Amino acid sequence: MPRKLAAGNWKMNGTSAELDQARALMAACPTAGVDILICPPATLLSRLSDLVRGSTIATGGQDCHANAMGAHTGDLAAEMLADAGAGYVILGHSERRADHNETDADVQAKVKAALNAGLIAIVCVGETEAQRDAGQTLAVIGTQLAGSLPNGMTDDRLVVAYEPVWAIGTGKVPTLPQIGEVHDFMRAQLLARFGNTANAMRLLYGGSVKSSNAAEIFAVPNVDGALVGGASLKAADFKGIIDALEAA
Ligand code: PEP
Repeated sequence: MPRKLAAGNWKMNGTSAELDQARALMAACPTAGVDILICPPATLLSRLSDLVRGSTIATGGQDCHANAMGAHTGDLAAEMLADAGAGYVILGHSERRADHNETDADVQAKVKAALNAGLIAIVCVGETEAQRDAGQTLAVIGTQLAGSLPNGMTDDRLVVAYEPVWAIGTGKVPTLPQIGEVHDFMRAQLLARFGNTANAMRLLYGGSVKSSNAAEIFAVPNVDGALVGGASLKAADFKGIIDALEAA
C-alpha cells in the first residue's frame, strides 16, 4: 500500500501572518500516520520550511522552471525550491495549464527538472466539464499522463493528482464511482508503463475536498490521499481532512 499523502496547495494565498496556520497544524499533528505537505507561495517557502523542519509537515513548491538556471525573470528553478527546503513540487496544475498555456510537453520538461533537483513531482491531470460531458474523460487523462510523465518514473519520485478542472474551487465533486473509475484507470496506465513500482505510486484526488466529504472519497479504492486547495488554508479544516485520511 502506498503511504498516504495529504497535500495542501495554498496557491497565491498567504503572507507572514498565515505562517500561524502552519504553526497551528504542527501543534495539532505532533505525530502522523500519513504524510502531510504544504505548498505555500514561493515567498513563504523558505520560512515555512525552517518553521516545520523536524515536524510531521513537509513543504513543496507550486511550479518550477524546466531549466536549471538562466535568464528567466520571475521564474524559479527546481534546485532553488530544494534549496529553500522543499521536498515536493506541484506540476501541471490546471491553473498553470490554463493561465500559462502549459502543455504536457512543458510539464514533462519540468518533471525532469524536479527529479534532477531531488524533488518529488506531484503531476496534476484532469478533464474540463465540457470534456466530461463529451465522454472524453479517460482519453484526456490518458493523454495527459502519457505526455506529462518522462520514462522511468518510480514510486518514490512521483505522485499523480486527479483534479477535474470543474471541481476545483467550485464545491462540485464527481460521484464516488466517477472518482474510482479515473483512479483505477490511472493505476492501470501507470502499471502498464512503469511496471510494479506503480502499485506504490500515490494517486491523489483533488477538487473541493473538505473534512465533510473526505472520508467517503478516501474510501474509494486507489485514492491514496488528496490535493487540497481552499480547505488547506486553515489548520482546523486541513486537520479534519488529515484525520479522515488517517482513519481510512
Ligand atoms: C486545487 O486547486 O488543487 C484544489 C484542489 O482546490 P480546491 O480544494 O479549493 O478545490
